[in-house]
Amino acid sequence: MKTYSGSCLCGAVHFKIEGEFDRFFLCHCQHCQKDTGSAHAANLFSTSASIAWSSGEDSVKTYQLPSTRHSKSFCSTCGSALPYVLREGKLLVVPAGSLDCQVDIKPTAHIFVSSKADWDTQLEEITQIDKLPG
Ligand SMILES: [Zn+2]
Ligand SMILES: [Zn+2]
Repeated sequence: MKTYSGSCLCGAVHFKIEGEFDRFFLCHCQHCQKDTGSAHAANLFSTSASIAWSSGEDSVKTYQLPSTRHSKSFCSTCGSALPYVLREGKLLVVPAGSLDCQVDIKPTAHIFVSSKADWDTQLEEITQIDKLPG
């Protein structure tokens, strides 16, 4: 059994996950663009892993977009994306960036690519800079 640990940016929320991830999707849908402010969400999915909050569980807020299946959990202080549970506890969704440890599975697929942002094409071809440009 694997253990993963994660936290939010301000450090109020810490959690541990035990188990394996089944799938890892990069979702380009418009809801994910809006709630990440970026090109896509990067979420790990598991139907068998469990989550335990080690601190800050009362800072975790969940927003469910009405009449959709789109949810997002986040720290109420710093806004960092955090894990959430769907389908009455049967599906754990973990934003990859919320983890503080190695993620050993590669993304399974890009999904909702029909909704990609206009600028989200061939991003691997643009100039790469190691740190903040001077
Ligand atoms: Zn926080
Ligand atoms: Zn999405």
